Amino acid sequence: MIYLDHAATTPVRPEVLEAMHPYFLERFGNASSLHASGLEARKAIEGARELIARVIGAAPQEVVFTSGGTESDNMAVRGVLHNNCDQHDHVITSMIEHPAVLETCQAIEKLGHEVTYVPVDGEGRVNPSDVERAIKDNTRLISIMHANNEIGSIQPIAEIGAIAAAHNVYMHTDAVQSVGKIPVNVNDLNVNMLSLSAHKIYGPKGIGCLYVRKGTPLRPLVFGGGHERGLRSGTENVPGIVGLSKATQCAMADFSDNTRIQSLRDILIDTVLHEIADTRLNGGREHRLPNNANFSFSYIEGESLVLRLNAKGVAASTGSACSSKKLEPSHVLLAIGLDPVDAHGSLRLTLGRGTTHADIEYVCEILPSIVDELRQMSPLYACKEDVYRQPE
Ligand SMILES: *Cc1c(COP(=O)(O)O)cnc(C)c1O
Repeated sequence: MIYLDHAATTPVRPEVLEAMHPYFLERFGNASSLHASGLEARKAIEGARELIARVIGAAPQEVVFTSGGTESDNMAVRGVLHNNCDQHDHVITSMIEHPAVLETCQAIEKLGHEVTYVPVDGEGRVNPSDVERAIKDNTRLISIMHANNEIGSIQPIAEIGAIAAAHNVYMHTDAVQSVGKIPVNVNDLNVNMLSLSAHKIYGPKGIGCLYVRKGTPLRPLVFGGGHERGLRSGTENVPGIVGLSKATQCAMADFSDNTRIQSLRDILIDTVLHEIADTRLNGGREHRLPNNANFSFSYIEGESLVLRLNAKGVAASTGSACSSKKLEPSHVLLAIGLDPVDAHGSLRLTLGRGTTHADIEYVCEILPSIVDELRQMSPLYACKEDVYRQPE
């Protein structure tokens, strides 16, 4: 199997599994216990917190462990809003956020808060001046993702963060896709909060963290025994935390592999655009994650493409894994201006550390004929042929 769906999830690295292993077995203690076993778990958690903090330029106390990217996003958006019924806050986000942010924003709208969804340009980028113009007296939070999970577009977060700071508005960014692929530093990015998830960087599923800058008035979503300085109760996922930390360290050690991945990705993009007519690359070539390629092939459906690729041993995705079960076209592709029909014909290929030149060659070899076959069966393609025949 050639796995080209690294934006959906990644395999756990052997080193990560190895680091986690003892915390399932001989070091299984509860970090709140006062005996040796508990102290060992506590030490592991605090060591992990320190290492992760160092990577993103934070202080250890500013890292809160959560169950992953989704919980971190929920916590960031909901946690800074006023909780009294008569105070209605305003939140600014973008039209292409991950559902973890978008659906949370829709939920807080139902509670009476107000949300502005700023548009993106044809390459999937937010214009910082649109964000600035949207700021109002009651704007409490700006939440814009660092890099998009579907089309890989990278947002000008440092600039937007500076605007937020100048207007005394809290700034959150979802860096789940960007960490390990482009530099992620909370000070350079001017953010108050930042979400991370382990399973997108060769760590385990179900663990992540939220960076919370000192002084950010965050309220918890999960109440209980007061873990994580009261911000996120629940017995800590010690193996997961150790795994997240190890995965983060490994991502930094391997950072230069992104150059290799990017050059493979560029071969893929160039070949596909050259070999297959009526194809577009979604998202720009600049300001794009090094491992992301997202195409729209007119006249066909992404789902059939993904199934055909799967039959030939290639794991790919249409739009994003989250939206592929719904039949609506991707909100991201619509936001960059695709019509719903073209949005349906989209294919996301996301490369990773295991991707080889031979893998990309194979995909480049089989994709044109798969697209061609599907087009031959497509009523839309038949209509197109008719249009061309008309003048004769
Ligand atoms: C995967 C992803 C998430 C969700 O993270 P989980 O750990 O799976 O909950 C959030 N945001 C982005 C951009 C993602 O790609």
